[in-house]
Amino acid sequence: MGKVIGIDLGTTNSCVSVVENNVPVIIPGTSGSMTTPSVVAFTKKGERLVGESARRQAVTNPDRTISSVKRHMGTNWSVKIDGTEYKSQTISAMILRQLKKDAEEFLGETVTDAVITVPAYFNDIQRQATKDAGRIAGLNVKRIINEPTSAALSYGLNHGEAQKVMVYDLGGGTFDVSIIEIGDGVVEVLATAGDNHLGGDDFDERIVQWIVQNFRNEYHVDLNKDFAAMQRVRDSAERTKKELSSSGTSHIVLPYLTQVKGEAVHMDMTLTRAKFEELISDLVARTEEPVRNALNDARINPAQLGRVLLVGGSTRIPAIQDKVRQMTGKEPSKNINPDECVAKGAAILGSTLQGNGLVAAGTGKDLLLLDVTPMSLSIETVGGVATRLVERNTTLPTRYSRIFSTAAPYQRTVEIHVLQGERPMARDNKTIGKFKLKGIKSAPAGVPQIEVTFDIDANGILKVSARDLDTGKEQSITITANDRMSEEEINQAMADAQQYAGLDQVRREAMEVLNDSQSLLGKAEQAVKNAGKQLDKPVKKQVKADIGRLRKLVAKCRLDKVTEAEVTEMRAAKTQLENSAAGLV
Ligand code: AMP
Repeated sequence: MGKVIGIDLGTTNSCVSVVENNVPVIIPGTSGSMTTPSVVAFTKKGERLVGESARRQAVTNPDRTISSVKRHMGTNWSVKIDGTEYKSQTISAMILRQLKKDAEEFLGETVTDAVITVPAYFNDIQRQATKDAGRIAGLNVKRIINEPTSAALSYGLNHGEAQKVMVYDLGGGTFDVSIIEIGDGVVEVLATAGDNHLGGDDFDERIVQWIVQNFRNEYHVDLNKDFAAMQRVRDSAERTKKELSSSGTSHIVLPYLTQVKGEAVHMDMTLTRAKFEELISDLVARTEEPVRNALNDARINPAQLGRVLLVGGSTRIPAIQDKVRQMTGKEPSKNINPDECVAKGAAILGSTLQGNGLVAAGTGKDLLLLDVTPMSLSIETVGGVATRLVERNTTLPTRYSRIFSTAAPYQRTVEIHVLQGERPMARDNKTIGKFKLKGIKSAPAGVPQIEVTFDIDANGILKVSARDLDTGKEQSITITANDRMSEEEINQAMADAQQYAGLDQVRREAMEVLNDSQSLLGKAEQAVKNAGKQLDKPVKKQVKADIGRLRKLVAKCRLDKVTEAEVTEMRAAKTQLENSAAGLV
């Protein structure tokens, strides 16, 4: 049986882990670092880059570089590049495919099974989109698990005592707070709350705006209009933010940032930690309400918390740690790595799902993982009211049925409008599905009995069904959520990804041969020139002919359309020139 990898598919960075010899270890990315930037780029030559290489070229290729795609999961967002439309699932799949590849190289075997983490606050559509991304990447997603649960899992291993723990997770784009009960082999999520549009990206943006404003004051130039300059500003804003986590001031120096009246302008500014804290104070304060809600929902007060865990890169910010201290009255635990614990927890769950005992020092027990629904689920009833079927923070898996009836006399069809959210009116909640139940027995209003069932599996994925109890007939129903990818689209994306994997390989090889050929051509041409008349005529003739042939193939080669046959031909021509010019270059 192959290994199950644990993947933390983050907004800014992703991380992959696997259990080896009973210990979760982090799998390094291609650049050797423990996390991989969640960035995808399409170069102008038709190459796809993922991770560090994509992040590095973002400044010079901003409109073809995609970062923070997680923020778009489960929405209609798409990006069009070279005439092809990519949805968020497809872009995420490219990141996942890279992580899968890294894991395969690390383990020396094929990897297909994975556990992927999502923010606890992700709704059903976002979870499904994440699962779909896994499928597109060629992964069998065994479980979707909430990030804080995953973190607690890796934490729970080191610390056996039963306790209630707050996981405060502030990453690049999302904020989650969860109250978790860690018991003897049981990890139960008691409550979750959060904000899936709050994180380090927002802090970066505050610094960016501060820079733009200062620049405007000084040079009367709007940097927003200079795309390349803005990319550099964004990059340096993040660096500055990180620096301010450990020092009181940070210098932002960007030489040749832009041009003003034909003159190059260099930027040199200093941001203090105090000013930074002022710039983000309202954002930091926004984490208060979810913390209060989670504590209320778990029916505990901060004094009952055993520990407070910090997860996500943004919790390294001192102002955030102060806020956590102030809200909980506790010193946050720092003995877990905020970047790695989520992936490690997922790897532990993966290993457990394979039938291994819980990877915990000395326990060897099976792990029971109880998760909860992050938001209430309801359907729309008369007057636009959202009638709850499943309350927020219900333990998963769960199944709940309720009987509804018709509102109008002799109504033959009812529309079931499935909603997610806490608001009393349907229109204020998020629509996650709609379907029609047809063929209801003709009867006065209120007589037919329609049983609506909500079924949520352990991944937090919801299935809704409806049955007409009067006729006893079960209707087959499909939930159509526009935001979700259809089966057809997923299959198409999977086929594309597979096809692309082959194409990618050919392109990579072509690029290698092309680079080598170009350097060989340069050397050979120079050598022929240098040797002049000293060179034997037949040799010279042969080398020149081989140069000509290779040069022609190189000129003809288009990386976005290159075929395997062309690569083979070019490689042969290169070998031929290497042989004929052997004594020269
Ligand atoms: P994550 O999604 O958990 O990988 O968190 C990524 C976010 O953490 C990004 O916005 C990073 O800029 C931020 N981050 C990483 N290290 C630090 C640090 N030392 N200080 C402040 N923010 C950081």
